[in-house]
Formats: sequence, structure tokens, C-alpha cells
Amino acid sequence: MGRKFFVGGNWKCNGTTDEVKKIISTLNAAEVPSQDVVEVVVSPPYVFLPLTQASLRPDFHVAAQNCWVKKGGAYTGEVSAEMLVNLGVPWVIIGHSERRQLLGESNEFVGEKVAYALSQGLKVIACVGETLEQRESGSTMEVVAAQTKAIADRVSDWTNIVIAYEPVWAIGTGKVATPAQAQEVHHELRKWLHANTSPAVAESTRIIYGGSVNGANCKELGGQPDVDGFLVGGASLKPEFIDIIKAAE
Ligand code: PEP
Repeated sequence: MGRKFFVGGNWKCNGTTDEVKKIISTLNAAEVPSQDVVEVVVSPPYVFLPLTQASLRPDFHVAAQNCWVKKGGAYTGEVSAEMLVNLGVPWVIIGHSERRQLLGESNEFVGEKVAYALSQGLKVIACVGETLEQRESGSTMEVVAAQTKAIADRVSDWTNIVIAYEPVWAIGTGKVATPAQAQEVHHELRKWLHANTSPAVAESTRIIYGGSVNGANCKELGGQPDVDGFLVGGASLKPEFIDIIKAAE
């Protein structure tokens, strides 16, 4: 079975109620390929999840941008996987580089979060990616493999995981990986999954690219054999996101 193209929109910590309503009405009016061709998931901040769920077209789905690492309780400021399930939120982004870098989330912590979220029935967009320094020192694959291993050590069923390869140097910088750079890492990552999980997991797991994807570069990136879609930040707040969804065609 082929891997269905996946386009995620990460709205990060942006938006007012009016702005969110505007983005949703643009998305709702868009003509895009059918759900058989592309899976579209947008990720508003927690506070806008109910509004987004209530007004977004039914063929698009929502993701939270994070969740707590275990069952909820005395963890001030956190939102648990159970709460997301209770709200009917199907997806969660885990291990985004902004959380790894700014909030010190380690590979192990991210791996535990992925495992717990899956155990509660959430589907996970798990982010991995190297910094510029790591790329320049030639350790890209080592870094990405270690991040993926921390997940693989705790998870046996990969059905509900999408891996987002997001080189940190390309996020929000306008400096996109070339299609060849993205393909190289995606291919190596798939080889890693083949060797360390199973051939079936390697074949079926979607590996999407994130980092300054826009309407102009999406087609060529999406045409790479191991690029199964995108996680989009900045451009997901703009009508241009529709063009990126259409790259699935
Ligand atoms: C992201 O934050 O996941 C991302 C890819 O951001 P941007 O598209 O803005 O680089």
C-alpha cells in the first residue's frame, strides 16, 4: 500500500480568535485533492482547538502542538493526552525542535511522550532534525537516528506515527533544504527504520519534511521519492497553505 501524502500546518503560538476564524474560512473554501490523496491536519494553539474543531471542514483534522508525558494530575500548565482524547483531538505534534531547544526536551522525554500519547489513542507527528552545527560537523544522521531510536525503544506499533524531519536550520529561517538534501535524510531514515524496526514499518511510515516550505518550493520537495508530505509553520497561516496541500497531486 502506498503512503498517503500528509500535510500538517503548525500554527505555533500565533493567532487571535478572529485570525483563527479567518484562516479556517480560507481553508473551508479551498478546493483541494480528496482525502484519498492527501491527509490534512492543522495544529492550532490549545486554546483554539475547540473553535477549530467546531468550524473546520470535516475532511481536515486537528492536532495539538504538545501534550504531557504521562497521565494528567499535579502538573501546572500542562495538558494531558487524556484531555485531548476527551476533546476528540486525533493528533498531537511531539518533539518539535522549538520545544527541544527552548524547553530542553531530551530525546528520552520525547520518546516517552510519543509512547504515552500513542497508548492513549492519539496519532503522533514526531519531529526530528539536526542543528546547523550538527549538519556542518557531519553528524546529521547520527543525531536524527538517536532521536528516532529514543522513540523506537519505547514503541512497537508505528501505524499511528508520522515522522517529521525538520532540520533546525531551516525552521522559520527561509532557508529551505534542497530537495536532494531532504531526500538524502529521508532515505537514510527509512533505511534506519528498515534495519531497526522492520521492513514493513520502513515501507509504510510516512516521513514528512518541515523547514521553510512554501508555495514555490513544495512541488519539487514533494516530488522526492521518500518525501511523503510536509509539516508547515509560517506558510500554514497564509492562503499559500492551499498550494502546499495541492502539491499532493
Ligand atoms: C515548523 O515549525 O514546524 C516549521 C516547519 O516552520 P516553518 O515552515 O515556518 O519553517
